[in-house]
Amino acid sequence: MAKRDYYEVLGVAKNATEDELKKAYRKLAMKHHPDRNPDSKEAEEKFKEVKEAYEMLSDPAKREAYDRFGHAGVDPNAGFAGGAGGPGFGGFADVFGDIFGDIFGGQRGGGRSNVYRGADLRYAMEISLEQAAGGYTSEIRVPAWETCEACSGSGAKPGTKPKVCHTCGGQGAVRVQQGFFSIQQTCPTCRGSGRVIPEPCTACEGAGRVKKNKTLEVKIPAGIDDGMRIRSAGNGEPGINGGPPGDLYVEIHVKEHPVFQRDGDDLHCEVPIGITTAALGGTVQIPTLHGRAEIDLPEGTQSGKQFRLRGKGVKGIRSSYPGDLYAHVVIETPVRLTDKQKQLLRELETSLKDPKHSPQTKGWMDRVKDFFQ
Ligand SMILES: [Zn+2]
Ligand SMILES: [Zn+2]
Repeated sequence: MAKRDYYEVLGVAKNATEDELKKAYRKLAMKHHPDRNPDSKEAEEKFKEVKEAYEMLSDPAKREAYDRFGHAGVDPNAGFAGGAGGPGFGGFADVFGDIFGDIFGGQRGGGRSNVYRGADLRYAMEISLEQAAGGYTSEIRVPAWETCEACSGSGAKPGTKPKVCHTCGGQGAVRVQQGFFSIQQTCPTCRGSGRVIPEPCTACEGAGRVKKNKTLEVKIPAGIDDGMRIRSAGNGEPGINGGPPGDLYVEIHVKEHPVFQRDGDDLHCEVPIGITTAALGGTVQIPTLHGRAEIDLPEGTQSGKQFRLRGKGVKGIRSSYPGDLYAHVVIETPVRLTDKQKQLLRELETSLKDPKHSPQTKGWMDRVKDFFQ
């Protein structure tokens, strides 16, 4: 089923402000919330759709990507098989912690510890023009983190335990008096976790997890262009203090092609032909991304002449039909001639003296005559 436009889902204009997005989201999420519509599959689907649209549009980077490339720029599921779980559609609890915290009395972060989302990761991938045009599946190795076996994730040396932080008494935050104001800050001793590790585990240096690599299958959608990114939700760095993981962005770099240059959905290529074919006309074969094609050159084809082959370009990610292929004719002057060939050409030149055979040269000569005087 085709995905609906995110702005349409939220019923806002393309230039909606953050406030308008939030308002629209609140209204729709309340309406379709599963707690209010028990056993309604339709409401659940609507709720997920609304939630995803808001998640994408409320993040300025994702919104920009969406505005430029549509769903392919940000689609949480596009391109990735085996990507871990998508952006947490499973439970609804995370919404409460989000903007529903104030309505439903949820405890956002609980004030106990500072919860941060993990950092996003970038992965540069180089592909060929053929792979970009036709779609491409590849496996990539990306960093992943696993719970440290030695300390079972506690970060403390086996046999010891993390202790409650003395600075903040386990709150993760401290109050600092500044003039008339009392300001809450992240505890500098435990950095918000509420606990300290007196003797860190040597295997993970107290982090509680170790870095490993994992293999991800990436499906590059057909039509992708140089500079586009694909998001794999949840495959970035792990969150801090139980926060959600970041995302992985695969950046696409399309290698230069020996024959074609791409311009949006169109392709361009040069077709060198000899002077005889140019003068007498003929059929030349040219390559396309899907096998060979022929173009019929008329008599008297001039250098720089373009031939358009409809639909032989690339079908872009957001395009409903493919672009065109433009073949640019370049007439090649013969080189390394023998004396006999030179003689023949001179004879030919004599027989071509009449200016009607060279209208361009004649016209040009007429135009520049004044400069030569
Ligand atoms: Zn450890
Ligand atoms: Zn502390």
